[in-house]
Amino acid sequence: MSKKREMIILEPDGRIHKEGFCSRPMTCPYCGGKGWFYSGRQEPETIPCPDCEGTGEVIALVTIDWKPNKQ
Ligand SMILES: [Zn+2]
Repeated sequence: MSKKREMIILEPDGRIHKEGFCSRPMTCPYCGGKGWFYSGRQEPETIPCPDCEGTGEVIALVTIDWKPNKQ
């Protein structure tokens, strides 16, 4: 199956600091994008997906923390 990739090119710029990136939204792998599950009780009751909180999508927050090279 084909996969789309997102790439971060690391490059220090100016003073080093923390950088944050946010990925594009991706389908929640737990609920498959539905955003909810049946509660499992007898009534057809639904509960929101605990991973995506009912949105059906997740995003990745990537933090890059630049540090001095002290090795
Ligand atoms: Zn979900």
